[in-house]
This record gives sequence, C-alpha cells and structure tokens, in this order.
Amino acid sequence: MKAIRVHETGAPEVMVFEDVPELAAGAGEIVVRLHAAGVNPVDTYLRSGAQGYSPALPYTPGMDGAGVIASVDADAEGAAPGARVYVHHALTGTYAEYCLCRAAQVHPLPAALSFAQGAAIGVPYGTAHRALFARGGAQSGETVLVHGASGGVGVAAIQLARAAKLRVFGTAGSEAGMRLLGEQGVDAAFNHHEAGYQDAILEATGGKGADIIIEMLANVNLGADCKLLAVRGRVVVVGSRGPVEINARDLMMRNADIRGLGPRGVPEHEIAEAFNAIDRLLAQGALIPVIGKEFPLAEAPAAHDAVIQQKAFGKIVLAC
Ligand code: NAP
Repeated sequence: MKAIRVHETGAPEVMVFEDVPELAAGAGEIVVRLHAAGVNPVDTYLRSGAQGYSPALPYTPGMDGAGVIASVDADAEGAAPGARVYVHHALTGTYAEYCLCRAAQVHPLPAALSFAQGAAIGVPYGTAHRALFARGGAQSGETVLVHGASGGVGVAAIQLARAAKLRVFGTAGSEAGMRLLGEQGVDAAFNHHEAGYQDAILEATGGKGADIIIEMLANVNLGADCKLLAVRGRVVVVGSRGPVEINARDLMMRNADIRGLGPRGVPEHEIAEAFNAIDRLLAQGALIPVIGKEFPLAEAPAAHDAVIQQKAFGKIVLAC
C-alpha cells in the first residue's frame, strides 16, 4: 500500500510517499481502507521534532481518518467489513491507504457526511468536547469565547457549544474566517487582529466577561484573557506556541481558573464520554465538519505548510 513516511525529523519535505507492507488485523484489531486523513497542527510538531518530541523513526504520520472497514479480527466486536467509519487515534498513521485500529478507535460515519468530513472529526471534536465540558465545566446558558474559532478545533467548539445551548462568541483573523463564524451561527464574531477587539468582547458580555474561554494561542492571548473572564470564569488552554506573562491578580479578583488541556493522563472514560456524545450529535446532524482544503496524499508536505502558515478556514484533509 501507499503511505507517507517520515525517516528523519525536519521540514515538511522529510515526508515521502512510499510503498509499505500491507497491514493485517491482529487480535481484536480492525483494518480500515482510508479515503481521507485529517491534518492536525500536532502532526507538524511531531514531524519537525521542534517541540522536543517525535515518534520512533521511521513512522507514518496522522491520527485521524475516515473510510470503510476492510477486514476485522474475530475478536473485534461490533465492526463489520464494508461499514463507513471515522477513526480517531488509530494504532498506525492515517496518512496512508490503510490503517490499523482497535474497536474503540472506530466510529460510525453518518451517511450524510463525506469521508473528508469524517477525517475532520477525531482530534478537533474530541479536543473541543473535552475543552468545553471535562475541563471547562460548561453549563447551558453560559457564555463561551472560542478564541481562534475559524480552524479545526474552533469550528468543532462552536458546534458543540451551540448544541449545548451556550452563548457563543468566536474570533477569526481573516474576512473568510469571520464569514465562516457567521455561517456557523455564533452570537458574535470578532477579528483577533483588530485593535481594541477585546474591549468589544467585554462590551458584548455587558461588562460581565466570558464564563469560559477556549484559547487556541495562549502565548499571545492569555494575559488579556484573564481580564475578559467573568467571576468564577475558566480559560482552557488548548493551543500555545511559547511563553506568556499574566497578572495573577486578574484571576484572584475573579476567583477564576486557567486550565491546561493535553493528551497525557486522560482517563479512558473521559475520552469515551466525549466520543459517545459526539457520535450522538453526529447522528442527529448537529455536528457538520467544515472542510477548507483537500490535498492528495502525496502532497502532505504542502498540507503541512498550509496548516501552519495560512489563515484557517475549517479543516485541511488529505485524500488517501
Ligand atoms: P487550526 O485549524 O490551524 O486553527 C488555528 C486557529 O488559531 C485559527 O482559528 C486561527 O485563526 C487562530 N489564531 C491565529 N492567530 C490567533 C490569535 N492571535 N488569537 C487567537 N486565535 C488565533 O488549528 P486547530 O486544529 O484548530 O488547533 C488550534 C491550536 O490548538 C493549535 O495550536 C493546535 O496545536 C492546538 N491543539 C491542541 C490540542 C491539545 O490536546 N492541547 C489538541 C488539538 C489542537 P485565523 O487563522 O483566522 O487567524
């Protein structure tokens, strides 16, 4: 089969399109014929090695994908060959024609969604759900600011927050991104490059502040976020690309929290709860992933450039 392989860490061009051996399902495993793979910013961090971590080399990148079940080990319960599925955190990389999964990593893909949309679910919706509920403690009627709402996690957070009847504010950094936020039905959209936009956000809350901020770029925004919080508000840090200074008094004055979100030490039940809720909402048609750009699998290097350098508009995926 064809796959993207990384033999050394470095620039996007270290990803090469190669022939690799076919996969066979081991005990309790499922082989999925992928038709699309999600491109997440973390794939670029792992590939570059710039953040000091990388999988053992060589490896196939990618955590998310969607396709059709190709074969199933007899011990893998509930999975049938031919079923349309999306996969999250597959055992093998998803920048490939096939991947290997455990049953808990394979979820039904509603008929109304394309494979590209299926590949946009795993990391973005799983992260957004955990940020809002497990970490953010969101309750219906609260106001959430999705700070960086035009990308994969941001769009997912808007849709999940609206489904939970929160009041949703979002930010974007381009005209297209602002339009996307409007189409997604946010209560108010703000451009995070416009001078004074934080004042406008505070004003839109009637001076009370946001109950929850889902933060995609904490190294730029965390100090200001602490001043945008309501009393007992919570910032959930999803993304950060460097150090940042805050005034802790802003938190003390509000009895407010900053909460980090990451993959380490997350109990299995928390992930299962998030994906059970996501699957329920997908089946109801309440979650509809937005695809901004689709690249052929062989052009994974261009997709990595795009996810880091271009203004976000929904999700970038590879056609496998
Ligand atoms: P993405 O699709 O590339 O979107 C990036 C978002 O950040 C866009 O909405 C972008 O808006 C926004 N942004 C850019 N400059 C900003 C600023 N000054 N203030 C606020 N937002 C700004 O990436 P993603 O998949 O949504 O992921 C978002 C971040 O979370 C990434 O850093 C990613 O690594 C991280 N992440 C972390 C976890 C975790 O487990 N902690 C999981 C998933 C993702 P414009 O392009 O419109 O300016």
